Amino acid sequence: MDIPVNSVEMEEIAPEEAFSILGNETRMEILRVLWQAKGPYSFSELRTEAAPDDEGNLNYHLGKLTPHFVRRTDDGYVLRFAGEQVVRAVLTGTITSDPTIPPEPTAEECLYCGTAVEMTYREEVISVQCPECDGAIGGTYPDGTCMQYEFPPAGLANREREEIIDAAHVLYDSKIAPMMKGVCPECAGQVSISHDACSDHESDDREVCPSCETRYAVWAQYQCENCRYARQFPPWYVALNHPAVIAFLYRHGLAELVPVRKITGDNAKFMRRITETVVETDPYRFEVTVPVEGETLVVSLNDDHDVLTATVTDDDGE
Ligand SMILES: [Zn+2]
Ligand SMILES: [Zn+2]
Ligand SMILES: [Zn+2]
Repeated sequence: MDIPVNSVEMEEIAPEEAFSILGNETRMEILRVLWQAKGPYSFSELRTEAAPDDEGNLNYHLGKLTPHFVRRTDDGYVLRFAGEQVVRAVLTGTITSDPTIPPEPTAEECLYCGTAVEMTYREEVISVQCPECDGAIGGTYPDGTCMQYEFPPAGLANREREEIIDAAHVLYDSKIAPMMKGVCPECAGQVSISHDACSDHESDDREVCPSCETRYAVWAQYQCENCRYARQFPPWYVALNHPAVIAFLYRHGLAELVPVRKITGDNAKFMRRITETVVETDPYRFEVTVPVEGETLVVSLNDDHDVLTATVTDDDGE
């Protein structure tokens, strides 16, 4: 059912005002208590649990939090989605903690040369670097960078290095899945695709291209038109998530690779054999070749990354 947008009426608040509302211990405590609550909380319940030392001001603080973060209902006070997101931002640890993990070798293999990669965590960003080759991207990135993106500090708890890398891969895929359908995972805004191409591309097993300083001739940039949340990756990465490819991988015992994870052993060998060809440039058309034991799947993608064809041939060419 479509609800006309203008039927939901609420005054907007300025970002500075939102921050000043939240910059208070009692108000944050109210959000936390309501977040843990199984249902609506009455005024007196909130007074006991959220403001034992500040009882006289509870009404004032609640007034600041409603209607944007807390809603008053006939049964009591409940958290609104915006209030939930504030609590969640605190729980992910991104706002409140700043852990660091120095570079150390892991059991994961470099996608390009097979060497054991090193993992680093700093300023809420996980990065994986190959000590032997150029990795996926050079330029301003640290030497040998194979992957680098933000990962909340809460994701480090109780995980070994390899498990952290796996979790980061899974999180990455879960963010780009809605983006591939045009929806921003952060704000639900519209996502547009653009391409960044190197006209002079040259890359081999060890080195990134001297001209674009990356491994791939074409990068797809997915960006939210509202909040600017963006991800970039080569188009073959999109093809990996297509049902034809997933079914193919499943048949060959490689299903656990999508979302991409555990880049070791057979998984790593398989990933290394994927190739991508830019067939046309205006508009773009890409051909992704996915060879496994005895069979090859060829997927062709257009400018919008729709899969046009997905054809399996066996190694005798049939
Ligand atoms: Zn390498
Ligand atoms: Zn290049
Ligand atoms: Zn967005």
